[in-house]
Amino acid sequence: MKSSLCVMKFGGTSVGDATCIRRAAEIVKAAAAKQPVVAVVSAMSGVTNRLIEAARHAEAGEEKNLHSLIEALREQHETAAKGLINDATKRKAIVAACAATLEELTRLLHGTALLRELTPRALDAISGIGERLSAPLVAAAITALGLQSEPVSATEIIVTDAHHGRAEPLMPETRKRAESGLRPMLKNGIVPVVTGFIAATADGVPTTLGRGGSDYSATILGAALGADETIIWTDVDGVKTADPRLVPEARMLPEISYNEAAELAYFGAKVLHPNTLRPVTAAGVPVWIRNSFEPEKPGTKISAAGKSARNGVKALTAIRDVTLVTVGGPGIVGLTDVLARSFAATSATRANVLFVTQSSSQNDICFVIERADEKRTVAALNEAFAPEIAEHTVEHILADRNVAIVAAVGENMRGTPGVAGRMFGALGREGISIIAIAQGSSEFNISCVVEASAMQRAVRALHAEFALA
Ligand code: ADP
Ligand code: ASP
Ligand code: MG
Repeated sequence: MKSSLCVMKFGGTSVGDATCIRRAAEIVKAAAAKQPVVAVVSAMSGVTNRLIEAARHAEAGEEKNLHSLIEALREQHETAAKGLINDATKRKAIVAACAATLEELTRLLHGTALLRELTPRALDAISGIGERLSAPLVAAAITALGLQSEPVSATEIIVTDAHHGRAEPLMPETRKRAESGLRPMLKNGIVPVVTGFIAATADGVPTTLGRGGSDYSATILGAALGADETIIWTDVDGVKTADPRLVPEARMLPEISYNEAAELAYFGAKVLHPNTLRPVTAAGVPVWIRNSFEPEKPGTKISAAGKSARNGVKALTAIRDVTLVTVGGPGIVGLTDVLARSFAATSATRANVLFVTQSSSQNDICFVIERADEKRTVAALNEAFAPEIAEHTVEHILADRNVAIVAAVGENMRGTPGVAGRMFGALGREGISIIAIAQGSSEFNISCVVEASAMQRAVRALHAEFALA
């Protein structure tokens, strides 16, 4: 059902301390004067990383740092509460709720340390604590500005499959719960502040949507409630022609298409979680990327149309922390099912395959996966090809971590001859050797694998070649 509604998500830096949270609350207040608003919030910046680090320490049985870590989290959130909430009773209630959540974290970490085992399910429960700590603070800040607001745990609303660490939403059930859980609040003029990143299975087991997943939470809720738009408030002015940390002169793009944004996100542009556009693309609901530190700026509009770029290449992206996996050896020429078996293995481990190439002689199949998927995937491949490895038909399954993917993205690349030539010419002049190349038939992107140490130089050279600044 379509209704006048805006979903707005605030990322980690946008809720990084009391001042940022107040600024976010003011943005919500201004928007809520025009239409109902659902806020979605990330953990305060740095918190998710620290939670994951704590989980890894616990897994290794190193319990001595856990206490200081939990105290640091307590301090961070209590300081924010002091800066935001003047009413002593309300502040006490928030601090008590924070203490209860940290108590749960303590138990989860001690349990992990005791077992010396960190299951994906336990990691989800631990890494999702940050959003449960930040949402009550943001709701309190909105309340302090004179609006009605309440924190809502997304575990009650977003229902996912049980794929811990990278769960996918089950939309029919999520829609039902959003209708019953959030719609009445909106009708009563209450701003729900929903925890990003986390969700739960139909049985209530906590899951997460993957790192950076609060963006995805926002569009899932937007789609579930039939919102008119989703705004992702972050720490940059919008989507740029390249990651500004790699290319300082990168330029703001006022408009891009769903396809372009999806390609950029898929190939590592951290400004958007890779799945963010999935829930809203079919309905054509626009997504805005805007700077919470400078809310007067218009930001980037992501919609079906986008806007074309002169030379076809609109933006560049690069991704490191990936592994190039090669299944190879002269003996695999005759193995007709080698592709099927390789991808059955990546599919079983649900590895994110970013890039695939195969040489015509079939001596080597190589694909790039996220580093986090490497261990499980290489083990699965070794198992899948165990008989051939024993007989030396398959000679090696190699994992090379010293690589990065660099990709050029733009809808107009289709039908613009010479883009690939210019791309490889520019990299050649820079002395960067290309390890592998891929271009999808959609021609929205051309990507290549280079040595990790050449990644930044490659992006800068291409930025200059296509005059993107
Ligand atoms: P948040 O905490 O708000 O979710 P993120 O750190 O996840 O913010 O994403 C914003 C960051 O994404 C920016 O600070 C920027 O460094 C990075 N980024 C990478 N590629 C791009 C790009 N093409 N345009 C804008 N920002 C980008
Ligand atoms: N807090 C989570 C993370 O750091 C989710 C997010 O920020 O979007 O990955
Ligand atoms: Mg993010």
